[in-house]
Amino acid sequence: MQDKGILIVLSGFSGAGKGTLVKELLNQYQDEYALSVSMTTRAPRVGEQDGIHYFFTDRAHFEETAANGGLIEYAEYCGNYYGTPKAYVEEQLAAGRNVLLEIEIQGALQIKKLFPESLLLFVTPPTAVELERRLKNRGTETEEVIAKRLARAKEESEGMKAYDYIVINDDLAKCVEELHGIVQAARREPIRTKAFIEEIQKELKAFSKGE
Ligand code: 5GP
Repeated sequence: MQDKGILIVLSGFSGAGKGTLVKELLNQYQDEYALSVSMTTRAPRVGEQDGIHYFFTDRAHFEETAANGGLIEYAEYCGNYYGTPKAYVEEQLAAGRNVLLEIEIQGALQIKKLFPESLLLFVTPPTAVELERRLKNRGTETEEVIAKRLARAKEESEGMKAYDYIVINDDLAKCVEELHGIVQAARREPIRTKAFIEEIQKELKAFSKGE
């Protein structure tokens, strides 16, 4: 009997390396994970493609989608809307895949409330200095945006305790293994193994009837 996949929320400071981590996880375990593509009103960065990195849209369309129940959660972050489209997530979970949501903390908390069996992971670099270095090295953001994101990181660090696991991204390969290990273990927790437990209980009941 196959349990549904689990919903995995991956949050972390902007610049923590979540994107690279997710890409590597999907590369190595492509049958086990599916990445949800969010909808946003932020303008595309150089190299970002519509439908691959995000579904880029305007505020009016975003608000309409949210009002029609098309998003599982959404939040405003640094002046832009970001939200998770519902249909893809439901479809992939039903197919037994673990669905990754790369979202910020307000969205993560909404997800945990709606789906208590979701797994909340917070990715962080080993130090704050390393975080600043990575943001600067990315070269896609202005000084002003970097300062805004560092201030936001300070705020977000207040919420780290609400997560199930803190994943320290120092070495990429090691971090991918650690993350996959956490997911495998989490799938075996009773809260995420309900279908299996119900099935085996049903089978055992059938035995005792025959006694
Ligand atoms: P960025 O502009 O750097 O791509 O993303 C900014 C923040 O928005 C990141 O923390 C990212 O994880 C978060 N984010 C991306 N998609 C979603 C979403 O669908 N919902 C929420 N709540 N946050 C999102």
